[in-house]
Amino acid sequence: MSMKKKTIRDIKLKGKRVLLKVDYNVSLLDGFRIGDDTRIKQTLPTIEYLLSKDCTLFFVSHLGRPKGKKQSKYSLKPVAKHLQKILGRKVNFIEDYIDGKGIEIARKAKKQSINLLENIRFYPEEEANDLKFAKKLANLAEVFVNDAFGAAHRVHASSVGVASYLPSVAGFLLEKEVDVINKALTKPKHPFVAIVGGAKAEDKITCIDRLLEKADVLIVGGGVANTFLKAWGYEVGESLVSHEMVKLAKELFLKASRSKTQMLLPTDVVLGNLKRNVHNGVVTPDRIPKDMQALDIGPRTQAEFGAVIAKAKTIIWNGPMGVYENPKFSIGTEFVYHAIAENRSSLSIVGGGDTLAAINKKEYLKAIDHISTGGGAMLEFIEKGTLPAIDALQNK
Ligand code: AMP
Repeated sequence: MSMKKKTIRDIKLKGKRVLLKVDYNVSLLDGFRIGDDTRIKQTLPTIEYLLSKDCTLFFVSHLGRPKGKKQSKYSLKPVAKHLQKILGRKVNFIEDYIDGKGIEIARKAKKQSINLLENIRFYPEEEANDLKFAKKLANLAEVFVNDAFGAAHRVHASSVGVASYLPSVAGFLLEKEVDVINKALTKPKHPFVAIVGGAKAEDKITCIDRLLEKADVLIVGGGVANTFLKAWGYEVGESLVSHEMVKLAKELFLKASRSKTQMLLPTDVVLGNLKRNVHNGVVTPDRIPKDMQALDIGPRTQAEFGAVIAKAKTIIWNGPMGVYENPKFSIGTEFVYHAIAENRSSLSIVGGGDTLAAINKKEYLKAIDHISTGGGAMLEFIEKGTLPAIDALQNK
């Protein structure tokens, strides 16, 4: 991988016990059915490779935010069942692998068996990156393979800590994520269009800053755009605004004006009020009433963003253009998705849990070149060019 880190191709794996870190933080419908299994399917190349080397697998993942407590609604049991279905092979589910009989069970695991460990975040030591805990986890295996790009920005025991105790390498998905995003950032074909949306400006602003140095056009939509509209001098009514980010947003306007990057904001917005459940037309940003919220990009903005996207050769998209969960405010996000999908001559990268949820199961999904499993991880990777769990892997 271009990060100069070892991958599963670079070490001996024959017959080894492997601790495989994956991001199976999938959405569960009714608490037990998998809503979207993209993240699981994307790890199949790594799994198949490891199985072809006769490895015994121990999958480690988190699900949701159980905050260090065992809670059945965050159990990975449904994921074990689903994985079993996809692989067509038995998947053992191991609940207790740190204390009690867990380590014994794991040591006695049949050769070439496939085992999925219960949600690692049931243990508070995971998020604290407790090294004793990481060592116990490492005891299960002889090699650590990280294939969880979506969790690679976290300094946790199962992503960073464990790498101090085992030879640690990247899986194919992690390698691919890093390579594709690196390619877009370091050798983009121009025009390079970056699209940033979503809720909170504070989560996205450093990334926007970085993209201003790289992209030819930076499109800002969603709730994030409101903070920029405010910085531009518009009153945005009851719209979601990160007030403490307004000053920084102003600085970014200045930066954009000094750079050759063109920054595009919505020129019309769809009004509504989520608290009062109203939906009330489209206005230019200077006409947002005091008691209303800007909840999606309007038709004129769609056309403007669409025209830019149609000409792009490289596209990175993170964050929906509106409150897509409500069909009244999902049109802008769908439009952008279709515009990207219809541009067949670009390298397109789409990431972020919400962005994926917004476009999931739509007919054009195959037209996107790379669906990143990382949301926060993708943003942080764009900002810093690396992530803690990648740093923890062995150099080539
Ligand atoms: P993020 O996880 O930061 O990508 O944010 C996703 C969330 O942003 C979704 O839940 C959307 O409903 C929300 N969002 C997008 N546009 C807006 C908006 N204009 N006002 C409020 N929330 C928004």
